[in-house]
Amino acid sequence: PKYVYRFSEGDKDQKDLLGGKGANLAEMTRLGLPVPPGFTITTDACRAYLADGAVPDELAVQVTTALREVEEELGRELGAPEDPLLVSVRSGAKFSMPGMMETVLNIGLNDSSVEGLAEVSGDARFAWDSYRRLIQMFGKTVLDIDGGHFSGALDAKKASRGVALDYELDVDALTELVEEYKAIVREQAGIDFPQDPRGQLDMATEAVFRSWNTERAHIYRRREKIPHDLGTAVNVCTMVFGNMGQTSGTGVCFTRDPSTGRSGVYGDYLVNAQGEDVVAGIRNTLSLADLESLDPESYKDLRAAMRKLETHYRDLCDIEFTIERGKLWLLQTRVGKRTAAAAFRVATQLVDERLITTDEALTRVTGDQLTQLMFPQFSTTGERDLLTKAMPASPGAAVGFIAFDNAEAIARAEAGESVILVRRETNPDDLPGMVAASGVLTARGGKTSHAAVVARGMGKTCVCGAEALEVDAAAKTVRVAGRDELLTSEDIIAIDGTTGEVFLGSVEVADSPVMTYLRRGLETALDSAGDIDNRELITSVDRLMRHADKVRRLAVRANADTPDDARHAIHRGAEGVGLCRTEHMFLGERKKFVQNLILASTDAEREAALAVLLPLQKDDFAQMMTTMNGKPMTVRLIDPPLHEFLPDLTELSVKVAVDREKGVLDPADESLLAVVRKSHEANPMLGLRGARLLLTMPGLIELQVRAIAEAAVERLRAGGDPRPEIMIPLIGSIRELQIARERAEAVLAEVGAESGYDLSFPIGCMIELPRAAVTSSHVAEEADFFSFGTNDLTQTTWGFSRDDVETSFVGHYIDEAIFGTSPFESIDVDGVGAMVRLGVEGGRSTKPGMKMGVCGEHGGDPDSIAFFHSVGIDYVSCSPFRVPVARLEAGRAAV
Ligand code: PEP
Ligand code: MG
Repeated sequence: PKYVYRFSEGDKDQKDLLGGKGANLAEMTRLGLPVPPGFTITTDACRAYLADGAVPDELAVQVTTALREVEEELGRELGAPEDPLLVSVRSGAKFSMPGMMETVLNIGLNDSSVEGLAEVSGDARFAWDSYRRLIQMFGKTVLDIDGGHFSGALDAKKASRGVALDYELDVDALTELVEEYKAIVREQAGIDFPQDPRGQLDMATEAVFRSWNTERAHIYRRREKIPHDLGTAVNVCTMVFGNMGQTSGTGVCFTRDPSTGRSGVYGDYLVNAQGEDVVAGIRNTLSLADLESLDPESYKDLRAAMRKLETHYRDLCDIEFTIERGKLWLLQTRVGKRTAAAAFRVATQLVDERLITTDEALTRVTGDQLTQLMFPQFSTTGERDLLTKAMPASPGAAVGFIAFDNAEAIARAEAGESVILVRRETNPDDLPGMVAASGVLTARGGKTSHAAVVARGMGKTCVCGAEALEVDAAAKTVRVAGRDELLTSEDIIAIDGTTGEVFLGSVEVADSPVMTYLRRGLETALDSAGDIDNRELITSVDRLMRHADKVRRLAVRANADTPDDARHAIHRGAEGVGLCRTEHMFLGERKKFVQNLILASTDAEREAALAVLLPLQKDDFAQMMTTMNGKPMTVRLIDPPLHEFLPDLTELSVKVAVDREKGVLDPADESLLAVVRKSHEANPMLGLRGARLLLTMPGLIELQVRAIAEAAVERLRAGGDPRPEIMIPLIGSIRELQIARERAEAVLAEVGAESGYDLSFPIGCMIELPRAAVTSSHVAEEADFFSFGTNDLTQTTWGFSRDDVETSFVGHYIDEAIFGTSPFESIDVDGVGAMVRLGVEGGRSTKPGMKMGVCGEHGGDPDSIAFFHSVGIDYVSCSPFRVPVARLEAGRAAV
């Protein structure tokens, strides 16, 4: 197989094979942009390595060929003693995994080529600095040496020379440092720093492959739902140097602001520095405007490249670049990560600039992003103690105790506290702490620092570059410039990722403008939006929501059990109620009425119990029908297992035993215990519930259908337009539905005759057992509609208990890649999804055009919605909060 591609051979659509970075380097090369020559080792090679534990044999030969071609093109040789060619080795998986994988720069330097580099560059300091960087990076990432050894030696050197900054070290100091670094390698890794340039390259390549399986790479992938079996590509690229003096530098830029979505270019630039200095946020950076005055030519070239890339990708791009002695080089580009707010604004900007269609704009935003925007922000009124204002790196409002390291952040988060991870700067080792924290605050680094990039990717609030803070992680204190108090882990701070403000103490949070829009409409939201960023955001969200509503085929209903729920749902755009779980109407006070029904032993007792429940149910339904006037409202007859209405068997047994012992036993408790014991089930969720309960307990169907029918009559008499749909849960056989249907129809006919209204409401069933799905063509004979209960259908298809899923083995299964996400969260397309498809096809083979809905949790899950659209479902029903998300996702599925 072909394991190595020159940059000039690939293109942007080969991300599976070349990784994201490699595919985009190839695309830039094809566009004629200034990319240093190089090649990409494919993900196939990585997968082969991971499978066999060794690099495939052909790889060495193919690397030689590609390397020779690059050498010929440039007229230089890797690591040659004179004018050496140097390369960088970087990982690049299909999906970007910021900071997760390894980079080694300056490969090819050794004791003799360093002299050659000094010679051709005319800058010995630069050559020795490059060499010491190579040993440091190689030592850390390839040889797994703790980076502290190197940074310790560097700090000691600076102290002994009386200088503060890295670049103030002179050639002598750097030459000494190289010897010290080599000694560290010998001591820590037990080998001499490899002098053979090709050996360095091969070792670095293998280290990139290996790093795919580090713990933090696993954590990141799990969080981002990236499959563990993709592997990474390796990019080998000719080195260009941003650290060749004052006319050189390195930077990162965005074609639009990735944080707010404002149009206009954004970026950070560091003079006389190499790439890792920017991303690591080690030094503070200049803006692109500063670059323009510093080096107008390169700035002009960069702007031209940015425009070309944005036009070509038709999207916000981020770009890593280096200027080597006044010549611009592009080292990386990709369609840039952005905040949720930026995603919406950029999408509509691009429509207005005629770069994309409105349909495409819909595909540029996601339901998850909309969800993020529905969360609150800090309120601007009230007392606030501003500590400092720094870089707003990832929006949101987070309040919590200061945590100084991973261990502290994780322990306190697990104990239920909210923490803000406060670091001087972050690096990939801090990932677990960032995951655990509510927000991240750093003292150093810009919008492109590790903390900023990773936090944005996670949707986690982040403020960075707060230089006023002096963070002492060892002592666990923060000193704030100009203030007396010393902050510790006992202090609460509040960080605003939208403004960059950092407050001491807790700050009240206010509604999100997008939530105001969703709840109260465009006009009200714009009036109360405050600044231009919020107003533009609301307008963008509104435009895309309206477009989603226009193009979507799936209707969106809500799961609502109370009139309040129903009202919320309608405000958020629901087109009906897809599931009213009537058992929720029997909780609290009313539980004992249901208990009386269960305990009734004579017809008279049973009728008395039902007579109490009837007016309560009727009133519930009438209220909901008022709210849902003219809209369909699916009422599901009672579903839960009986034990939910009865006392716990063990507790009651103990009470009865103790009371008997004391001679105070209540005979009512004794008979209750008998009933509880009799109805006790080992697997209640597989027991007497749903249709089984309805068919077993006399009078229950009649009670509920009568309540629906009488409520409807009441509404009709008042001039309303009630549209109930009666749904029977948990059927496995057509016969169950037949019986339930006959009894329901009899009641509808009776109340219809009494009232003079036609009450022939649709009667359908849930499909939530495999047997119902498999026999759906049959079941459809008795059903006016199907609604897929994907919660139970997942439980019964997999045989997983849905009640134990949080605490059970599902986490382990995700680690083992048995599935990527819990099937209770996102539909298992191949298994449970096949059941749904079977149900739809079977139903419609009997009744073409039969109405099909989904009312399990999956109805509000973005990935699942796309699937339901694809199998011809008519509507999804989800919690009122998720209705806007479902509308947007249904629109995305349709374009
Ligand atoms: C389902 O099983 O998917 C469903 C909607 O019903 P419930 O969650 O009430 O069992
Ligand atoms: Mg169910």
